[in-house]
Amino acid sequence: MPELPEVETVRRGLEQRTKGMTIARVDVLRPRAIAAPDDPNLFALALKDTQLQCWRRRGKYLLADLQHGADAEPAGQWGVHLRMTGQFLWLETDRPPCPHTRVRIWSAQGPELRFVDTRSFGQMWWVPQGRATEAVIKGLSKLGPEPFSEAFHAEHLQARLKGSKRPIKNALLDQSLVAGVGNIYADESLFAAGIRPHTPSQQLGLTQLERLRQALIEVLEISIGAGGTTFSDFRDLTGTNGNYGGVAWVYRRSGQPCRRCGTTIERDRLGGRSSHWCPTCQS
Ligand SMILES: [Zn+2]
Repeated sequence: MPELPEVETVRRGLEQRTKGMTIARVDVLRPRAIAAPDDPNLFALALKDTQLQCWRRRGKYLLADLQHGADAEPAGQWGVHLRMTGQFLWLETDRPPCPHTRVRIWSAQGPELRFVDTRSFGQMWWVPQGRATEAVIKGLSKLGPEPFSEAFHAEHLQARLKGSKRPIKNALLDQSLVAGVGNIYADESLFAAGIRPHTPSQQLGLTQLERLRQALIEVLEISIGAGGTTFSDFRDLTGTNGNYGGVAWVYRRSGQPCRRCGTTIERDRLGGRSSHWCPTCQS
């Protein structure tokens, strides 16, 4: 599943390829891919003849500003969530769509931006100009601070985790605590901070929470630099896989020796997800 670094990699790819692009035509092959408006034809009409401006990311949501090309009037926003398997492909030459193609968007200049989604959980929204983004993309209002923002600090974690017996691993996956973190980066940052994933959240002091915050930021920055991870079937716009997998400390390494101390990495299920940790390095 794409996490923050993968979505950020996609954002950069989209920005590079589509900034200033005029949308000539939109084909919705699977109506369910469009979350709003209700009628997918209205979505296609809303995007047609607009020009894409900058792409932003909030948690795992992608948002593009749209403009009417001729008079530079704002034309609302285009929102995307990749969910489990959604991916964009940039096609310079015409290629027939695969069975998992959900939405096709043609640039006036020729190339196609194609949205392919095997599991079909990915979603798109058009937010009309003047409407609050959160009123249309409701999930946005539930998001906690961005890991790289000033609002994400140890005191925020302490206040939110106070009195919580929930394992810290589960808390990290909660998008209202911090936006964009999923299984891979939760496991890797807990290893880097030396904290066992089962630890009840309320037991962590300010020093440990600050260590965890720094570890999370570091792990995310490394992964963004590497173009996202190879653990999932994630691909960027050119079909390239990232290479974070080469430096994973614990994720999907159960049964193998810890890269730091040699102890066998263990695995457990927490909150329905596999957790990987080193019993020696994490206490
Ligand atoms: Zn170890």
